[in-house]
Amino acid sequence: MQSKLPEKKDEFSCPSCHMGKMLVRESKHGKFYGCSNFPECRCTHKWVRGLTLLEQLEEDERKKREFNDAMPINFIDDLQ
Ligand SMILES: [Zn+2]
Repeated sequence: MQSKLPEKKDEFSCPSCHMGKMLVRESKHGKFYGCSNFPECRCTHKWVRGLTLLEQLEEDERKKREFNDAMPINFIDDLQ
């Protein structure tokens, strides 16, 4: 059975802390998703043009990938 999808695709709860939202952020390396609980939560995910995070997660699930392995965790340090 498939779970019910959120209506607003770009507002996706953080899979790490479950309290923040994954938001599109920008660094000198380009866009990426970061948790709104940053810096307490450092969960990030790559941003792909034309795809919502939810679509990316579904794609990743098909590839049986871990949520966080797309990007080194220190990437988000560029924000500081
Ligand atoms: Zn989080």
